[in-house]
Amino acid sequence: MQVTEGMKSLQETDEKYLWHAMKGASANPSNLIINKAEGAWVTDINGNRYLDGMSGLWCVNVGYGRKELAKAAYEQLEEMPYFPLTQSHIPAIKLAEKLNEWLGGDYVIFFSNSGSEANETAFKIARQYHQQKGDYARYKFISRYRAYHGNSMGALAATGQAQRKYKYEPLGQGFLHVAPPDTYRNPEDINTLSSAREIDRVMTWELSQTVAGVIMEPIITGGGILMPPDLYMAKVKEICEDHGALLICDEVICGFGRTGKPFGFMNYGVQPDIITMAKGLTSAYLPLSATAVKREIYEAYMGSEDYDRFRHVNTFGGNPAACALALKNLEIIENENLIERSRELGERLLVELEDVKEHPNVGDIRGKGLLLGIEFVKNKQTKEPIEITKINQVINRCKEKGLIVGKNGDTVAGYNNILQLSPPLSITEEDFMFIVKTLKESIAQL
Ligand code: PMP
Repeated sequence: MQVTEGMKSLQETDEKYLWHAMKGASANPSNLIINKAEGAWVTDINGNRYLDGMSGLWCVNVGYGRKELAKAAYEQLEEMPYFPLTQSHIPAIKLAEKLNEWLGGDYVIFFSNSGSEANETAFKIARQYHQQKGDYARYKFISRYRAYHGNSMGALAATGQAQRKYKYEPLGQGFLHVAPPDTYRNPEDINTLSSAREIDRVMTWELSQTVAGVIMEPIITGGGILMPPDLYMAKVKEICEDHGALLICDEVICGFGRTGKPFGFMNYGVQPDIITMAKGLTSAYLPLSATAVKREIYEAYMGSEDYDRFRHVNTFGGNPAACALALKNLEIIENENLIERSRELGERLLVELEDVKEHPNVGDIRGKGLLLGIEFVKNKQTKEPIEITKINQVINRCKEKGLIVGKNGDTVAGYNNILQLSPPLSITEEDFMFIVKTLKESIAQL
């Protein structure tokens, strides 16, 4: 397609007025201006097509162009566009019931708008829950280095990536960090579960009665697709119970089929106390997030004095159109067996990429479902991370060939060497083979 004057002026206006997320002076100036999207593919204003191997920001689980999602939102907007959830409405009631079914336990749902907000809500619910029970000293949360939990002052405090935080400190208080499990760099952990035991030690040293909870993703995603030992999460749950702390599971990325199960925790045989979700809940067609709490937590708030209510409200959370759209989105995931598909394609992807492991700079290839990480190293023995310029080469080659992939990025901690892939769960067989071929060719050129 020819680049017209109109397109040029759009690019100039973009540069002039739009403050892009994560953009700094060194940011790549060639922003993609996307104006069409269908299935797993997006098209920019110059007519270039890309397979979106990141589903936007790990979120467009059912793929682009789903007219039935637009219709569900449109019909709800016509019928009844808004009412706050200080009262109630039908789409929120139905969605809460449906999520409870998906979660496989007895949960009560609080709706918000973003993953960060869902986590903030979880922290507030957890702190007050302990107080409702007369346990007034519990306020600390433990999370893991390298994890991302959101951009707001509490969720960022829980985040374990220094580079994202240090300019904005002091953040929310009371957040502690431990090393994450990482079975590539610390394989002994599979037998010793030392990374889980560290949480036990920290809780003891901090005094159990000051710890409100632990927050974790089942698999650290943005921090580099860090695979835990299979028994890690169950061990952490047991430790939480021993110390009277709640286990909060951040399913913002891992939820809704991403890891080949409805929710990531379901790979590890645990039932968390609080579960936060966003992104795939609506496949990002509209903003919506949720904090699910076990019924006993909710009940601790019941029957209390008026001043003991959960004093937390947000104007937009649980918007009727977003809830109606989410219900349709879950229906698509169910009807098209996208969770099974994610699991199967994820297993096949690891098999297809087996020979890529021979490359001298490929240290590890790992993942679950359609969530994949490829860790690049200078040297397979020392596992020293490869230079950022080299991994950027691979990512740029993928883009030149029409595949968008991601990268973890905490340069302060020295880990920005992991290529990430998280395509829509609805990718076709042809899309799947395109991803495999493009990754192989781009890595071979390194
Ligand atoms: N938790 C995790 C695991 C995330 O990946 C993200 C966003 N990438 C968030 C929370 C925050 O979500 P949001 O950007 O919707 O606030």
